[in-house]
Amino acid sequence: MNAGAAARDTRSGRCSGGADRTAVGYRLPVLGLLPTTEEHTVVGHLSPDLLGPDWGPDEALRRVLATPRRALGEALLDQRNLVGIGNVYKAELCFLLRVSPWSPVADLSVSACQRLMPLAKKLLEVNKARPTRTTTAERHPDRRLWVYGRAGKPCTRCGTTIRVAEQTSPDDPNSAPARITYWCPRCQPGPMPEPSP
Ligand SMILES: [Zn+2]
Repeated sequence: MNAGAAARDTRSGRCSGGADRTAVGYRLPVLGLLPTTEEHTVVGHLSPDLLGPDWGPDEALRRVLATPRRALGEALLDQRNLVGIGNVYKAELCFLLRVSPWSPVADLSVSACQRLMPLAKKLLEVNKARPTRTTTAERHPDRRLWVYGRAGKPCTRCGTTIRVAEQTSPDDPNSAPARITYWCPRCQPGPMPEPSP
């Protein structure tokens, strides 16, 4: 983008980069512009994009497993490990792997490790052209996702009430701000917070 020619309107998230280019974003809390030649100064430490040509599942898994005691839910949101997994896909991935979001990555089974990255990529691939995302292949609004946004409702797999809690690790200097996490306590065994009284 030609930063010199760029103008921005943070209310709409619309950013014009000259006569022939327009970038559009929504709900952008922070927006900064810089020349392409300086991009490495802000994104050089990030993992390749999950849907990009230079992404590799082995390297992404290696990065996730490099911090063995870190909770899976947090490791999946760390953009240095893999780029493209947001909070919704994080919760859905943990469900599909049958693992609590609070499980240390070191506790992942061999099978879960093998499935993790192919599954992450598949979820993004199948949804990239859909107006509303689904991880269940269902179209019904209440059944498009396994757990995300379904707190208090029965798990569509086992009937157990889906739970919700904030996930963060105050002792982890790399921890992201607390994020809302949904999970099924029966389908996803492992460590988890105590239910609220
Ligand atoms: Zn369940």
